[in-house]
Amino acid sequence: MRYSLPGIFRQVCRGHTGWPRVWRDSEPAQSYDVIVVGGGGHGLATAYYLARRHGVRRVCVLEKGWIGGGNTGRNTTIVRSNYLHPESARFYDFSLKLYEGLGRELNYNIMFGQPGVLNLAYSRQELRQMNRRVNALRHAGVTAHMMTVGEIYRRLPHLRPPEDLARPIFGGFLQPRGGTVRHDAVAWGYARAASRLGVDIVQNCTVESIAVNGGRVSGVATSRGEIRADRILLATGGHASILARRASLSMPITSFALQAMVSEPIRPFFNVVLDGPVYVSQSDRGELVVGGGTDLFNSYAQRGIASTCERNFAVLVDLFPCFSRLKWMRQWAGIVDYTPDHSPILGPTEIEGLFLSAGWGSYGFKAIPAGGYTLAHTMATGRVHDLIKPFSLDRFVTGALIDEGASSGMDLGRPVI
Ligand SMILES: Cc1cc2nc3c(=O)[nH]c(=O)nc-3n(C[C@H](O)[C@H](O)[C@H](O)COP(=O)(O)OP(=O)(O)OC[C@H]3O[C@@H](n4cnc5c(N)ncnc54)[C@H](O)[C@@H]3O)c2cc1C
Repeated sequence: MRYSLPGIFRQVCRGHTGWPRVWRDSEPAQSYDVIVVGGGGHGLATAYYLARRHGVRRVCVLEKGWIGGGNTGRNTTIVRSNYLHPESARFYDFSLKLYEGLGRELNYNIMFGQPGVLNLAYSRQELRQMNRRVNALRHAGVTAHMMTVGEIYRRLPHLRPPEDLARPIFGGFLQPRGGTVRHDAVAWGYARAASRLGVDIVQNCTVESIAVNGGRVSGVATSRGEIRADRILLATGGHASILARRASLSMPITSFALQAMVSEPIRPFFNVVLDGPVYVSQSDRGELVVGGGTDLFNSYAQRGIASTCERNFAVLVDLFPCFSRLKWMRQWAGIVDYTPDHSPILGPTEIEGLFLSAGWGSYGFKAIPAGGYTLAHTMATGRVHDLIKPFSLDRFVTGALIDEGASSGMDLGRPVI
């Protein structure tokens, strides 16, 4: 939908009433070719690419709340592809490339910026790991380079002087193409484009169970009745194992609350996104958007505990003393699902017709375009897309794990600090 300037002026004069809906809020039909459970970024992107690239248009997205109301609308919006293993670097870099053209593809402003993502090393050991990562990234064709302490201080002149830091910095590395994307816009952009291609988006519709007959799926039972389909995608974010368990499918997933915090707006301060035990970027409105490690115990309570915020602030104020006077305006949490190797679970399952987009932990926002693109390919053609073959569920049986604990900022499900 393109808005004309006089059109926008008329809407504003009407007190912001009468804006046209950007996607259809549909009633569920009795059957579809594909049911996508979960209206987060991954579910919506898969629905969009199914319709756009494969002509599969009898698709519905069933969302228990509102679209983007899960982790997609709760994350700290950082996108990067600086992962250690070639399988991951290829996959996440493909996603970054799709993000680079996504605004144009969806004709929607996703507020994409690429100031670069800078990781700081707090020990010689971490510095050695970063060196290894930068070399691995170069082999995978992803540009990244090490930075000395002097270069970091030139980039971030407000950092506390090295001799006063509680945890000294030993160096770092930069991925220049990393950055941030407005999270809601990603959900809304995909929803609008999918809806225009005929995809039904059904909000306030909880999927309660998955019908499995003779080893294959036949539909779902929802709070709004039964719906039939022989291909179903579970893209339920931090609640992936709940529905899967009801279909007798077990996944090695543990769930934690992960928090984000936002400050009052300040003048432009950061010319880079800082990643590590705390990650921080500055939004277009000037707010600092901060995240860190998860709460230390498993939980589905979407609140988060105060001690995690305190820990994040302590690290941040150690780095930037001037932030101690900032007012913090908002805090929230999302439930993130971690796998033992901190890589996602993607593709078909032992139940015919049941597909997974799960285990996205704290790193799934950056993967939304690639996750949707590759799963749509897999579900439409019946052939697993090459990029996601390594991320199948059976790697936990074969032992072919892709350990990205360090690259995802987590180690054994616990924050690195
Ligand atoms: C605080 C925080 C910061 C983060 N920061 C980053 C970051 O900077 N970069 C990054 O790459 N990633 C980040 N992440 C992770 C990222 O947000 C997620 O991995 C990603 O959004 C997952 O997308 P999704 O579509 O799979 O899940 P979601 O967006 O959670 O969508 C799943 C949807 O499924 C719905 N649902 C669940 N159960 C049912 C059911 N039974 N029936 C119907 N609908 C159901 C939910 O309501 C939800 O809307 C962060 C996460 C959090 C919480």
